[in-house]
Amino acid sequence: MNTPVQKLLGRIEAKRDEVTALTQDLVRIPTVNPQGDAYEACAHFIGERLAKKGFAVEYVRALGAPGDSDSHPRTKVVARWHGQAPGECVHFNSHIDVVEAGSGWTYEPFGGQVANGRVYGRGTCDMKGGLASSIIACEALIESGLPIPGALEISGTVDEESGGFAGVGYLAERGYFSKPRVHHVIIPEPLGVDRICLGHRGVWWGEVETRGRIAHGSMPFLGDSAINHMSAFIHLLETQLQPRLQGRHTAEPVEPPGARVSTLNINSIHGGQVEQHYANDARGWPTAQTPAPVVAHSCRTVLDRRFIAEENLEAVKQEIIDMLDELKRTRPGFDYGIRDIMSFVPTATPKDAPVVDATARAIARVLGREPSYIASPGTYDQKHIVRTGKLQDCIAYGPGILDLAHQPDEYVGIQELVDSAKIMALASLDLTGWTSS
Ligand SMILES: [Zn+2]
Repeated sequence: MNTPVQKLLGRIEAKRDEVTALTQDLVRIPTVNPQGDAYEACAHFIGERLAKKGFAVEYVRALGAPGDSDSHPRTKVVARWHGQAPGECVHFNSHIDVVEAGSGWTYEPFGGQVANGRVYGRGTCDMKGGLASSIIACEALIESGLPIPGALEISGTVDEESGGFAGVGYLAERGYFSKPRVHHVIIPEPLGVDRICLGHRGVWWGEVETRGRIAHGSMPFLGDSAINHMSAFIHLLETQLQPRLQGRHTAEPVEPPGARVSTLNINSIHGGQVEQHYANDARGWPTAQTPAPVVAHSCRTVLDRRFIAEENLEAVKQEIIDMLDELKRTRPGFDYGIRDIMSFVPTATPKDAPVVDATARAIARVLGREPSYIASPGTYDQKHIVRTGKLQDCIAYGPGILDLAHQPDEYVGIQELVDSAKIMALASLDLTGWTSS
């Protein structure tokens, strides 16, 4: 017996070369963020393809958003296909931006080479492979001619790697991720072909500045170094806060398990004059402008504090303020400022939510095994969909191995591309309300 669902799965199986080629094509558009290169080219590449398949295609530029300029427009694509009857909308959201290639590659970072049953290149895993799978899944559904109700949407959005404010954040503010337009969202981030990601830990980014008093660098005893004050603060972070965080465990299934505690990273530190790269010429003279000799009167650090569902944002910040106040009491001359850069609370979609249930059943059908449920150590665009779009029915599910994201020789397995496309298609059928009877 060849049921409609079996035919659909066969149709996707036959698109193995197509999903591979689409991943290659996407990887060859170097959408590196920062600065946000080639966003427009990539958005149009996706939009022109989907328009030919019957999608209504919209390009949305976040005019005037941070990072947006005529040379680097923050352009996103949103494509919508209407089914044959009223029903619910399933939206696949992928970010098109990738991080810089970095060093250590044996493959061409933007070449999209195929080897060992994999596609190699920056963004293959995070997350152009997932985008390609979702496109193939929706195209196969449309080509199947099944009377699918509701709507299918695919978006290619920008700046996820830098917070997503000009991407999903911008669209969410304008109703693109809210009912009644959209009911279910799947974000094909590389969480693994049999894993459903329900949400993420919380994040607080803050900047701390220590202050000192400027003086001549040859007589530092006449000044007060903000860098020395900062090092006292960082010493406390390392010896007091970080060990305390290691002891705070979450019940959420965060992967990798090392992230099932609270963490702190010192993202950056800057004190004193502007950094330069010094070298000496043959005479031994400096080749770059040399610094003027001053004691640093300001030092700034950006903290990246990831917190667990069992903590709250106010307490996370207060803990750091308390340490700074303690230094102010005990360390002569210590003074500081602190400011928020960004924060998001942890999110977790319930395990019995429709999108979770439909995806779990599709995984069992295609792979013959039960999915595992995980949470992400870092945030991704789900945060905007939940907070701004007020849409809870959202997960991350897609091909690729999370550990490879942002690494040299990043790749995605071709079998995973095909399997996840099948799973996305079956889940969509279910969520739009299609029935075989
Ligand atoms: Zn990603």
